[in-house]
Amino acid sequence: MLYTSYMHTSRRRSFWRFLRRHLLLIVIIISLVAASLITINWFTNSINTLTAERQAESAAELARLDAEIQEIVEQRAEEERLRKLAEAKKTAEEVIRNPSQAAQTVDASSCNVSGERTDATQPSVLVNKKHCIQPLSYAPSDLVTVNGATISAKAADDFQALFAAAQAAGQPLSVTSSYRSYSTQVATYNYWVSISGASGADEYSARPGYSEHQTGFAVDFANSTGSCSLDCFGTTSQYSWLQENAATYGFIQRYYAGKENVTGYMAEEWHYRYVGPTVALDMKDKGILTLEEYWGLPGGDY
Ligand SMILES: [Zn+2]
Repeated sequence: MLYTSYMHTSRRRSFWRFLRRHLLLIVIIISLVAASLITINWFTNSINTLTAERQAESAAELARLDAEIQEIVEQRAEEERLRKLAEAKKTAEEVIRNPSQAAQTVDASSCNVSGERTDATQPSVLVNKKHCIQPLSYAPSDLVTVNGATISAKAADDFQALFAAAQAAGQPLSVTSSYRSYSTQVATYNYWVSISGASGADEYSARPGYSEHQTGFAVDFANSTGSCSLDCFGTTSQYSWLQENAATYGFIQRYYAGKENVTGYMAEEWHYRYVGPTVALDMKDKGILTLEEYWGLPGGDY
């Protein structure tokens, strides 16, 4: 028991002795270890910061390159658009000088599928993508200009009455397009062909000889200032007035939404066709929206 206690005390003493003798060394070792840890930590942090900076720089550089490439692509597209426009202008000018060359776009021998309602001088004519005007380069001989519209004399009195009635009802109208000649349609159509190709052109423009505007029985309306035309016109009170009253004066909206497969055209709230009051009012009474359905004749695409 005594011996054990002696040994214990002796070991503790030698430990303290050792500590006293080597204190400086121990402090130095601890300091070195601490310094090493701090240095390693500092290096790691520095490397991380540098890596993050490099990554940010690379991302910025990539973004800059992307923007440059995008700019070049846009420039090329703009150059291409301008080149096509210049080509289209040239084609249109050539066609206006020499309209006969455009007839190639239409198969004149088979362009009136049913062979019915072919008299382009009458409001009973049917013109759609399956019924061309015959002859293709037909021009009405009785065109007159009233209230800003150039139309067939057969439609002129009713048109003037409609225009005056709209004005009196506080729904004044204006006309953005009416008679268009065959050569104008050639130039318009060829312009679209040069921009979008033949299939694209057919979406935007009637082929020469297939436009109701060539008969002198079609009018495109806008509000009185012309500030709201085409797609905008369907939202106006003038449009609502026409829906109620146009038939009285022999006019119908020719292309309705939901009838694209029947007429072959997208809805056009602005495009009105003169068919005479008898037909227009009968269509209204029966709730028939297209001439194709009213007359039982084919329409749709070419
Ligand atoms: Zn039109």
